[in-house]
Amino acid sequence: MSDTNTPTPHDADPLELMTRAFDSGVGVILESNDFSALLAHLQQALRPLAEVGDAGAEDVARTARALATHMAYELWNTTPIPENHFRPRKLPCPERNAPCPCGSGRKYKQCCGGVDRPALTQPPDDMLARVLEHLPPERLGELVARGAPPRVLAEIAEHWFDEARYDEVAGLLEPLFANPARLDERFAPAASLLIATYAQQGREDARDALIERLKKAPDRGLRSLALQREASILADRGEFPGAWRAFRAAQRLDPQDPTFAHLEVLLLMAEGRKEEARSRANLWAADLLARSPGKEYLPMIEALHAIVDAGEEDDEDDGIDGDDERTEEVIALLAALPGEYPARRLVLHIALEGIEPPIWRRLEVENTLTFEALHLLIQNAMGWENAHLHEFSVGDYRIGNSPDFDATFDEVVLPGEEVGLGQVIDRHKGFSYLYDFGDGWLHRITIEQRLPSAPQRAPAVLVDGARACPPEDCGGIPGYQRILAARRGEAGAEGDELRSWYGGYDPEAFELAAHQRMLENLFEPLD
Ligand SMILES: [Zn+2]
Repeated sequence: MSDTNTPTPHDADPLELMTRAFDSGVGVILESNDFSALLAHLQQALRPLAEVGDAGAEDVARTARALATHMAYELWNTTPIPENHFRPRKLPCPERNAPCPCGSGRKYKQCCGGVDRPALTQPPDDMLARVLEHLPPERLGELVARGAPPRVLAEIAEHWFDEARYDEVAGLLEPLFANPARLDERFAPAASLLIATYAQQGREDARDALIERLKKAPDRGLRSLALQREASILADRGEFPGAWRAFRAAQRLDPQDPTFAHLEVLLLMAEGRKEEARSRANLWAADLLARSPGKEYLPMIEALHAIVDAGEEDDEDDGIDGDDERTEEVIALLAALPGEYPARRLVLHIALEGIEPPIWRRLEVENTLTFEALHLLIQNAMGWENAHLHEFSVGDYRIGNSPDFDATFDEVVLPGEEVGLGQVIDRHKGFSYLYDFGDGWLHRITIEQRLPSAPQRAPAVLVDGARACPPEDCGGIPGYQRILAARRGEAGAEGDELRSWYGGYDPEAFELAAHQRMLENLFEPLD
């Protein structure tokens, strides 16, 4: 194996290229309604992919052409067409013996059909959101008029909310609430999002008016939602008697709703009643576990404990008083992070940079987890010993565990236990995790999918992976290569020594089930 750096997808940026081609392809479909125009557009857009290779250039060109063909069918068959009641117009894939649509003159099976079809399928709601990007705002009302399900509209609006496009969110969702009489529980996600949007826009009057309207909705769930929001808002203003009145009224509507645990503990903490908050959190935890002995409520229980623990840390900080290591910049950055964001379940592909064949893992994580939690998950998934410093890089953010380190390197590092994944990951395609600043293990993390949140499942799951991570403290990639060389019987006297140190190390070994258990143990009930 040579040491030359083969370009990784991150370096060459083909992912970015493909995403741009995908997005612009939707525009071509809507404007031209012509499959061959779409195919020509994608071939043009993906051409740079064919120009990166040198040795295997022909292969690369063929793969790029096939990618354009596959993407054209995928995009055509999943793009909802407004004139077709927002349903796709489908086109069957070519017969195996038909001429390949790419224009090569060969049979499909011997051309693009013979190249593996990459997984390009996007969730229907994502496709609808892409189409809406291309529609003029006055046509958005059409979507509501055509009776698009409020849940779908809320999901589209969430994408826009992620991108801080609050005016458009309000424009899309407001018509839903024009007629309070027909509101039912299906409108709850849209209602939550619209309330959060008004808060972002600073439109408190609009927010309060919507809450008042929801309080009169026929549906108990919506009335409860409105009262819960009212309770939070009043508590933020320090108006605790009103906050508790709203809380009790909401609870009377649906006494069994477990989300009241969260709100009650928050209200108690906000009022400074920390002892009561802790004992209520414990009671709720016991109650929730009794309702469902499985893992259904574990994330909720974790969240309750986090609220109470965060309050205790504040107390400790007060004790130190000014001796806090944190710079004002960290405090300002933390305060500027979004407080609300849509819950998602992220599929993360994690691979060690610079090692072939790759050492990789695939994790599913709720984006409500913190970066500190993700750090522990990666440690256990990879097989590291959590013996060194670490740091995440997400866009311009550095998130890690070391105040000393940020002082030395003059960059601001946010504390991982105070930053939720969803607060900074936003629309990023990937980010990185550096473990052990000496050995410098750089993990490339690709966000493969953004799934709907699944609070009834464990908050994180190790899905798959391959190969053992290098031995701790083995000297980075060069040290790792020396161990592999020694195993092959190369490297002479040094080889003997390395073999005696790392004799039990098998670079190919990875026991998925054992690592899965380690991750499960991280989420055992607290206390
Ligand atoms: Zn072809």
